[in-house]
Amino acid sequence: LELTLAILKPDLMSNIFAAQNVRQRILKNGFYFVKTRNLHLTTSEAAQFYGEHEGKFFFNRLVTYMTSGPIRTHILARDNAIKQWRMLLGATKVNKTVYAEPDSIRGEFGLSDTRNCVHGSDSPATARREINFFFPDFNIE
Ligand code: ATP
Repeated sequence: LELTLAILKPDLMSNIFAAQNVRQRILKNGFYFVKTRNLHLTTSEAAQFYGEHEGKFFFNRLVTYMTSGPIRTHILARDNAIKQWRMLLGATKVNKTVYAEPDSIRGEFGLSDTRNCVHGSDSPATARREINFFFPDFNIE
């Protein structure tokens, strides 16, 4: 089994129907919930999590968005979890994804390129870093 980090972002968490729908998709697609944490990111936590994007034109917008309400983070497990979860998400840019992948989570519930409702780790190294960020007590070995 592989582990990945999923984030249900503030826009998704403010829509009970959408959040339930995503939960059902996670279960239907054979993922196990390993850990779940509900939290509200501070500005410095969001800036740290998205540190690689510092200086980009959308950075402030991204941090403002990610701190605008509660989020839910999950450690998800299944075989090939990183790739499988990103396939369920759809591509980052919602304005294209709504047409190209309308059945993906972002295609269905994403609002804009920034407010794209969900996150998934993009590699094993990133998954490790992100799981450690939200679940520092979780022993990933
Ligand atoms: P995530 O990391 O959330 O899964 P991603 O890996 O598909 O998304 P990244 O390139 O890591 O995309 O960007 C992180 C987040 O920054 C995106 O999810 C989105 O909220 C925001 N973002 C990325 N690119 C843009 C853009 N061109 N315009 C506006 N917001 C963007």
